[in-house]
Amino acid sequence: MLFIALVLFWRLHVPNPSLFMTKPITAPRPNRTLSPGGVLVWRIVQALVWLIGMSIFICLIFYPKVGLIALWNVLIPVAPALLVVEGGLWRNVCPLAIINLFPRHLNLSKKKIMSASLQAKLQLVAIIALFIIVPLRHLIFNTNGEATAILLFTATVVSVSMGFVYDWKSGWCNSLCPVHPVEKLYGGNTLFSMPNAHCDQCINCSVPCPDSTPNLHPSSSKKTVYNHFSGLLTIGGLPGFIWGYFQVPDQSGAINYQNLFTDFEMPVLGLCITLGLYLLLKRLVNKKSERALINCFAAAGVSCYYWFRIPALLGFSKFSNDVVLLNLKNTVPQWSIFIITVLTTLFFFWWLVFRKRNHKSWVIRPEFAKEAKHNKVLKVSLQQGS
Ligand code: SF4
Repeated sequence: MLFIALVLFWRLHVPNPSLFMTKPITAPRPNRTLSPGGVLVWRIVQALVWLIGMSIFICLIFYPKVGLIALWNVLIPVAPALLVVEGGLWRNVCPLAIINLFPRHLNLSKKKIMSASLQAKLQLVAIIALFIIVPLRHLIFNTNGEATAILLFTATVVSVSMGFVYDWKSGWCNSLCPVHPVEKLYGGNTLFSMPNAHCDQCINCSVPCPDSTPNLHPSSSKKTVYNHFSGLLTIGGLPGFIWGYFQVPDQSGAINYQNLFTDFEMPVLGLCITLGLYLLLKRLVNKKSERALINCFAAAGVSCYYWFRIPALLGFSKFSNDVVLLNLKNTVPQWSIFIITVLTTLFFFWWLVFRKRNHKSWVIRPEFAKEAKHNKVLKVSLQQGS
């Protein structure tokens, strides 16, 4: 908290207008459709990543120890840094997105356009789902391969069902996916825009499109009260929630009220504290500086994650039952791990707060579909420049 306060003070009192200026999002951006060769390369990469995901799923059932380590201690720890640096890559290869968009690629989807209001409601459901699922990791998912497999299977069934009904990413990736709020919080200053390896033509399924809008953040859309709440919960709540999650050890006991309370107590407390702090600071800073405030909370969230996760993976956790990926406890001194966590924190604050925003979207919007050029949704979108 002290670090956030110091960074905020610095950012708000050291004038550097270029860092606060918001370039109009109507600025011309390249529209590009992948060549057949490009499509083939991306399909191969997607197939490989999907196979990795499928292998983890099978391991969760038949070799739970391996599956749990691969999912929670390898794949998930890499994800936040990837979302910060190159969110477009994750958007192109996420195994769940591949499954969700399978009906659309095979032309089996009803291709319905989801209303902005339903998307906003589902986005709120997504962040609440995240706040429920993550603490349950301590109680069950971190240690029970079958339960984790059921969780992934349920998400897969929901996402593919939505893919059969709604067009492109509106049914899952841009609405109901519980990782999407985190993508929007961390992915505000991506390295470069990748080609869109899913949508071959844009039909404006989501406005604003999170993939194609440069420097998006969770409060970019304020159309409905649901957008407003999900934005506040994501930006303000996530850093404290992450801190709270790491204050609780994995439970080996039964699923009962006492264990549930222990699991949720600290994450919810942390969520409330940073949400309150965010609401307070939001009132204090002027509109121009609001983006800097959001960036500070994004950097605090991802830094907090690695602050606790790196030592735990390397054998320096304060909880004896944490899974260790590479035990360095008797090899390197504790201060060297501390230096690594300080460096990762400095890196994320530099990347998200101090580094100049480069006005890059996660992926490049493909050409608009002909019919989309005449529909009402597109008109709204063009007015907003998304
Ligand atoms: S590029 Fe167009 S079709 Fe694809 S997700 Fe964005 S708005 Fe939807």
